[in-house]
Amino acid sequence: MHVSTHGDYLVKLTRFTAFNCYLVRQEDGLALIDTGLSGSATGILRAAQQIGKPIVRILLTHAHADHVGSLDALTQALPGVEVLIGAREARLLAGDLSLDTNEPQTPPRGGFPRVNTQPTRTLAPGERVGTLEVIAAPGHTPGHIAFLDTRDGTLIAGDAFYSWGGLAVSGKVTLVFPFPALATWHKPTALQTARALRALAPARLALGHGPVLERPLPRMDRAIEVAARAFERA
Ligand SMILES: [Zn+2]
Repeated sequence: MHVSTHGDYLVKLTRFTAFNCYLVRQEDGLALIDTGLSGSATGILRAAQQIGKPIVRILLTHAHADHVGSLDALTQALPGVEVLIGAREARLLAGDLSLDTNEPQTPPRGGFPRVNTQPTRTLAPGERVGTLEVIAAPGHTPGHIAFLDTRDGTLIAGDAFYSWGGLAVSGKVTLVFPFPALATWHKPTALQTARALRALAPARLALGHGPVLERPLPRMDRAIEVAARAFERA
């Protein structure tokens, strides 16, 4: 597990170079955002130990295997830990891939593994979890959410963008790292989300795959332009 610190509150944990999850320092302990691939629990717990604070809550951006892979192991190791996921995405976490009538009728893509853990509570956009504001970010999956740290403008956006080999909107296949793009549910929705996240003017962008970006707005603008052209052609 490679550990790096970004600003005062954010710690990035990376496995196999490309799979990130995050610890966020909060008043009552650490919030873990996403849980990585299966087999990540030991490294995540060790990183928290080194910081010297307990993980008090787990927040999930979406229910894909590389984000919930170590959820069961962590909830076993952390009795009483809060588990929070968007209300829409909770259905996918429970293995229900059905679509609502008002959603694009295209099946969710990518791997949604069997998970035994049930969320202790579900989240709605606009809600706050301590310092973190819940932001709707559908597209990569139907119920994907992001978290904005209101203290310093850090946006933890899961797979709404990726920054591996240059910044790209979810669903835009890049040759360097095409896998998350291929798992994207609905590209026009992902592009709308990218624009909405850009409008928040984040000071720092932290993603599921690739490096953390400081002052990301010009790169977000460029990624949105490229995706808009590519998705329109498709
Ligand atoms: Zn991912």
